[in-house]
Amino acid sequence: MSDVYQALVAKRSDTGLSVGFEQLGADEIGDGDVEVAVEYSTLNYKDGLAISDAIPIVQAPSLILGIDMAGTVVSSQSDRFRVGDRVVLNGYGASETHNGGYTQRLRTRSEYLVPLPSRFTTKQAMIIGTAGYTAMLSIMRLESLGIMPESGEVLVTGASGGVGTVAIMLLATMGYRVTASTGRLQETDFLKSLGATAVIDRNELSEPGEMMQEPRWAAAVDSCGSHTLANVLARMHYDGVVTACGLAQGLDLPGNMMPFALRNVALLGVDSVHAPMQRRQEAWERLAKTVDMEKLEALAVEIPFAQIPEAAGQILQGQIRGRAIVDIA
Ligand code: NDP
Repeated sequence: MSDVYQALVAKRSDTGLSVGFEQLGADEIGDGDVEVAVEYSTLNYKDGLAISDAIPIVQAPSLILGIDMAGTVVSSQSDRFRVGDRVVLNGYGASETHNGGYTQRLRTRSEYLVPLPSRFTTKQAMIIGTAGYTAMLSIMRLESLGIMPESGEVLVTGASGGVGTVAIMLLATMGYRVTASTGRLQETDFLKSLGATAVIDRNELSEPGEMMQEPRWAAAVDSCGSHTLANVLARMHYDGVVTACGLAQGLDLPGNMMPFALRNVALLGVDSVHAPMQRRQEAWERLAKTVDMEKLEALAVEIPFAQIPEAAGQILQGQIRGRAIVDIA
């Protein structure tokens, strides 16, 4: 077997970030107690931000990009993993402060790795990826404040994207009625095939709106931020619960406090990167119980390893539907 591995590497210098493919030796694939033969990775919105340096995600002078990977352990000094175990990595600073998943071989710390539930192949794990695992974390946050299918309809924004498509699929499988908000109304049939019961134009939510609006939803999974999130809050029913994980429209939150004071609305943040291990494992176990495999496969768009840099621009433009996966092996 070759001991040279193809990887997509970022290097930061005074002139900015350079990104390119390199052949790495066994001593250049990271530090840690577990070595993984990477089989699949993904392209998330955050990978697009990291590669384009639109937001300075990469904080090390040099590292392997990619916030996700799934593969098989080839050597381990950890009690938690043995050779042959299948593992998944989501975030934990990968592609920010240390090496991530765009490499055929990765050495990393065992505390970053989740055992892959036996129901999933490494490819299916990456169709889920950070976006899908974040969708499950978001649903777990809704449940923590008592949201159940009987609570009423749930809104999912950024519906055709990674977090959005997986959230729709999961919520529908759990028995929720789901409204999908999208800028791509041409994807209405696709969103309904995932389980959305209604589809609305995202323009209804993305412009500045009134402080309080006609209540429409019992809960929402938002990955857009900005005016979208402000309008979502203003349209919640009494006791409504909204999760916020993303900034696809913008980093700002130009809202007001009336929905909190007058309708008892709750706004809950969702972070996947530093989520504790127990929560990650719970999310992956819930995913293994809930995911509809046929719908999951329908979300996948496969991108060749060599084309990740080009595809990074596409995901930031909202041009990728569902989940972009990369065959690394
Ligand atoms: P995707 O690019 O796959 O999906 C984002 C979707 O948002 C797009 O497909 C589009 O959906 C919609 N969108 C794009 N631009 C705009 C806009 N200007 N206004 C309103 N909607 C827009 O990204 P992901 O699903 O991977 O991630 C979504 C967000 O969540 C990102 O900001 C990402 O950084 C964040 N995130 C955060 C995590 C955390 O740990 N907090 C973890 C994972 C993701 P449509 O065409 O249907 O409108």
